[in-house]
Amino acid sequence: MSEKAIYSLVLVLYMGLLIIVGLLTSRKLRNVEDFYIGGRKVGPWVTALSYVAAYFSSAVIIGGGGFGYKYGMATLWIGAANVLFGCTLAWIVLGRRLREFTTRLKTMTVPGFLAERFSAKEARILSAVAIAVFLVVYNVSILKGMGHIFEVLMGMTCAKEDFYLRSAQDYGGKRPREPSLFVSEALDLSPAEIKVLKRSPLATITRHGKANPSPATPIEEELVLLPRGKAVLELSHQKIDDYLICPMKYRYIHVLKVPIRRHHAVIYGYAIHQAIKLYNMNRIAGRKTTIADLKEIFRKAWHTEGFLTRHHEELRFQEGLKALEYFHAHASEDGVIPTYVERHFSFNESSIRIVGIFGRIDVIDGDGTIIDYKTSAVTDEKQAIKRTKESRQLAIYALAYERLFGNTPVRLELRFLTPQVIIGRYEPSEKTIQKALSDIESAATGIRAGRFPADLTYLACTYCPYRSICPAKRSD
Ligand code: SF4
Repeated sequence: MSEKAIYSLVLVLYMGLLIIVGLLTSRKLRNVEDFYIGGRKVGPWVTALSYVAAYFSSAVIIGGGGFGYKYGMATLWIGAANVLFGCTLAWIVLGRRLREFTTRLKTMTVPGFLAERFSAKEARILSAVAIAVFLVVYNVSILKGMGHIFEVLMGMTCAKEDFYLRSAQDYGGKRPREPSLFVSEALDLSPAEIKVLKRSPLATITRHGKANPSPATPIEEELVLLPRGKAVLELSHQKIDDYLICPMKYRYIHVLKVPIRRHHAVIYGYAIHQAIKLYNMNRIAGRKTTIADLKEIFRKAWHTEGFLTRHHEELRFQEGLKALEYFHAHASEDGVIPTYVERHFSFNESSIRIVGIFGRIDVIDGDGTIIDYKTSAVTDEKQAIKRTKESRQLAIYALAYERLFGNTPVRLELRFLTPQVIIGRYEPSEKTIQKALSDIESAATGIRAGRFPADLTYLACTYCPYRSICPAKRSD
């Protein structure tokens, strides 16, 4: 017998059993009380079992199970606390009294009890409405959970008119996707026979593009993904930077979306960034952040990915802790409270939407300073100033600040955690804003036209994450 037939049979037997029990017990019914609450003769075992049956709904089985799978076994404490405190207290404190009251007042429901106990019709209406509203919400989740169970176990779908099956050998992304049961049904194969393939990055590139596409003949199918004519093109400073460093690199990242393993510098920078974000946000909220708090956030945001060896990872981790100590000492001494932290922005330049996040802005006496933290290495202040002056990101942020606040920021700052804090400062001018505008325009024009030639400057290729798969890389 097939799995589907077994599930159907169990369902039919269960429904049949319910009908038989209903028919047999209906002969003993004398009044409404018998029907609803078993004539108040239900013992502790039946009460306990029916309570558990009601409690273990799809919210607990599917929702609780999924929650546990996602966040770990510690989530069991939520259920334990619910049962130990919520249910036990309700039973001990309320159970007996409610039973005595409802028997005396001859009521069967909570709205009925409230109305009789307080001699107020309004209490019945109010509690009935509250129960109806919340039961609808609750039941939606229960029914949805049941739908998922039917879908997974019996291959049933809730599609009413049309049902489309789509299939691909490789959906992209990091992990292979589990094929739907519908695919095995449609192909009349057992699920074990459906194999999920994961293409190599090189195979993906070969499938999507030419080895060295000519700027004059952009690939038509890719252009479908790109905004044409006056359609709004959304760009971040990162996208603009990627395009202006090497258009082919932009194509790998943002058009072909070729996945790459995260570099250890990204892991390190992210963990430091999370700790600094917490510090600055706490500062705005008037809360203190200890160095132990910073290290804890750093530890939690850390991922073991991309490091060369275990020893290399340990060295970087210790370096990060040291950098946070320097940061903490510097920030405590400096004492300035940021005006904005992690503030999102977006503005339009004709049909280009520029989006981004200001890491930190300090506004003192109306003068704004845009600050960004970097974990890349600089040797001294002179180098830090040079990097700040040349930062395309900060120039675009200066333009964003001008568009949003109506004036140019007085200062741009890059704070390098090397691990000591080395600050590069620069006062932006009209030239900075014009340079940002021209960079945006050049990137947008090239992207809209589908021009993605390789820029073979040696430095770009040396640090490019696609170097190992790029057929156009410069290797001298
Ligand atoms: S390896 Fe060089 S040419 Fe290839 S995408 Fe990267 S930067 Fe561009």
